[in-house]
Amino acid sequence: MGNTDNGDAADRLRTLEGRIWRFPTGSVNKLPRSGGPTHPEAPLDLDIIDHITASVREAQDHVSANRTENAGPMPANVADVYDWWRASTPSLDAERTLAREAVIYRQGLEHAIQAGDTKVVRKHPCPECGCWGLFWRRPEKRAVCANRDCRDEDGLARMWELKHLAHEHVTRQKMLKATAT
Ligand SMILES: [Zn+2]
Repeated sequence: MGNTDNGDAADRLRTLEGRIWRFPTGSVNKLPRSGGPTHPEAPLDLDIIDHITASVREAQDHVSANRTENAGPMPANVADVYDWWRASTPSLDAERTLAREAVIYRQGLEHAIQAGDTKVVRKHPCPECGCWGLFWRRPEKRAVCANRDCRDEDGLARMWELKHLAHEHVTRQKMLKATAT
């Protein structure tokens, strides 16, 4: 425990879950199975359902591949998926623990962006120049550096995938924790 990033990912997932129904009633547990007929005026936000389904599936896949502890079945409440993931993989080596935390952190960023909060990328320094000028570019699904001097080999603005930012973030957190003790 003692991981501050967990709350973000779980809370943001819960927020998204609350937006599945365009008319705010019901819970994700009552969702119809996907694959059924859809109607133009369906009160369900199918993009959000797809997003949540993909996120949970990624967590399940990681648990299946790396489980070191039997922490029971997938929790019924989707926002508990991160606690379940950690409880199922408590004794991974340092590298794989870091990889797990990077995915959880990345999913937290993805949930925020899915909910329309693209400003979350600004909390990360550009991995190349270190400036705090990243902004989200939706078509590319990348964070772009606003520093005019920060260019790639082709002279274009540098762009970063969320997984790259997430990996840098959890690595930085780990180093901070190590120097604090
Ligand atoms: Zn930069």
